[in-house]
Amino acid sequence: MKGKRDKIFNNRMVRRVFLCLLLGIGAVGLLSGCQGAGRSGRTLSASREFFAMDTYMQILCYGDNCEAAADAAVEEINRLDALLSVGRADSEVSRINESGSGVLSEDTRTLAEAGIRLYERTGGAFDITVFPLMELWGFTTGNYRVPTGEEFAGALKLCDSGKLFLEEDSGKLTLAEGQGIDFGGIAKGYASDRLAGIFEEYDLESAYVSLGGNIHCYHKKTDGSYWRIGIKDPLHPEQGEAMLGVVSVADRAVITSGGYERYFTDEATGQRYHHIIDPSTGYPADSDLVSVTVVSAWGMLADGLSTSCYVLGLEGSIELWREYGSEPGGEFGLILMTADGVVYVTEDLKGAVETNYPAEIIGTER
Ligand code: AMP
Ligand code: MG
Repeated sequence: MKGKRDKIFNNRMVRRVFLCLLLGIGAVGLLSGCQGAGRSGRTLSASREFFAMDTYMQILCYGDNCEAAADAAVEEINRLDALLSVGRADSEVSRINESGSGVLSEDTRTLAEAGIRLYERTGGAFDITVFPLMELWGFTTGNYRVPTGEEFAGALKLCDSGKLFLEEDSGKLTLAEGQGIDFGGIAKGYASDRLAGIFEEYDLESAYVSLGGNIHCYHKKTDGSYWRIGIKDPLHPEQGEAMLGVVSVADRAVITSGGYERYFTDEATGQRYHHIIDPSTGYPADSDLVSVTVVSAWGMLADGLSTSCYVLGLEGSIELWREYGSEPGGEFGLILMTADGVVYVTEDLKGAVETNYPAEIIGTER
């Protein structure tokens, strides 16, 4: 796995440019001014705010069927939560983890296949069998602790999607003894894809969802302008409104991973440990990146890649983008920030990103 991973770490050649634009807007301001003219002269809107999938969620719908669409969206999120939550003993995922195998439903099969494909493409940086490690660190229960060396050895061996067996015909997934799966790295992106499907079904004019900070924008805003999505500044997380930058999009998921999202502090040492695990060490990923945002029409892909790139680091992420970023049907762009406060933007997003930080554009050539 290591050798394969090293291959991704090739030389890079980035063009240094400075995008020093003034932002002058807060996260709330980004969502304001969403009124426009609909068939009745006024666009109807509906919003929902609720807690699901272990996080705070917000849904905004615009169009004649907005109320029904918003209700259907909430129902869909709750359905997926019940299916995928590792915190619920009766979820499909928990039952598979408990018994070691099971025939997958359509949703979990889609997630498992995507998880395995990401595992292969990222040289193991993304691995849905991270569950025993998440348990060991206490992230599944909230009983956080730093595991001992001996404990690591066992859980590390179990973290290997190469040991999963998914039967093509029956859809039965079999885990190796002691293994467990966790779709936490892709579930919210999958959920936002499902919601985009619902918005299409209800013929909405426009919609916006934030699933714990994982954003998905459906169409443009009702006034015809792009959605302007603020990305949290990981260097100043205590200042709620501070932003790394803003990206303007329509019909895109904008999904960010960062170590500041979920973590605990070991009281004995003062050391902070976050929730994105590097499967090659069993420890929270410690790459040179402090924030990874993936922009794509496909939420599940964006979600999986944001987690992956956070593990891979700058060089690995750039190589991944160069290899797969323009693959038809799976295009994506990256907005990365390193610990020294430099923002890296892939060239496909060049015109869409504003930042006050020094920025470099990443081109396709090595
Ligand atoms: P995200 O916030 O999308 O970056 O995902 C973080 C979540 O993904 C964690 O809470 C875990 O449930 C899961 N996870 C952590 N590390 C990994 C990894 N290396 N590969 C796949 N999933 C992971
Ligand atoms: Mg993710």
